[in-house]
Amino acid sequence: MNRRPPIQFCSACGHSVESRIPPGDNRERHVCTHCGTIHYENPRNVLGTVPVWGDQVLLCKRAIEPRLGYWTLPAGFMEIGETTAQAAARETLEEAGANVEVGALFSLLNVPHVNQVHIFYLAQMREPQFAAGEESLEVALFSEHEIPWDDIAFPTVAKTLRFFFEDRRAGAFGVHLEASRNGAAAPGVPVPSLPVNTAHTEDILTPMLRV
Ligand code: ZN
Repeated sequence: MNRRPPIQFCSACGHSVESRIPPGDNRERHVCTHCGTIHYENPRNVLGTVPVWGDQVLLCKRAIEPRLGYWTLPAGFMEIGETTAQAAARETLEEAGANVEVGALFSLLNVPHVNQVHIFYLAQMREPQFAAGEESLEVALFSEHEIPWDDIAFPTVAKTLRFFFEDRRAGAFGVHLEASRNGAAAPGVPVPSLPVNTAHTEDILTPMLRV
């Protein structure tokens, strides 16, 4: 979950870029001074899961900066050519060694100061097996009272975990959105008919993005 360095050179021809507003646009872009290629920058999607086994949730202790040594839900950057749910499952396997069935979309949290969107799915572990991947020092299952709240790596992870335990107590898992355009927190949208193990992820995401 890093910031990106600013674009300095054109990836098409190698010449330097300058910052200016292209014709027909309304904001500054990095434009190549030689070939005119416009290098658009857009937010990155960070995809992850809340992996569940019984009443426990699987967390990873980070082996890399930022926030080395702090605990996180398995999550990472979406790759080209995959869906959000595929990215969430892949990151869970890579970072936590856990094979999960990805369920309903659970939280979508904007992090505009680092140009990221963090998206978490509920996920059911297929077996109680897990192992630390390259980016994890340790992976472990936690009951709610064992969660190391003071050592959670990112605010979006802490929020997602709080939403999870609140919803579980309430007996219904919703979709949680926060930091919308006006920056105000939005309450969870109850979706009581969607259990963890359904594969309706695309159906939920599409209408939500039109909001
Ligand atoms: Zn160029």
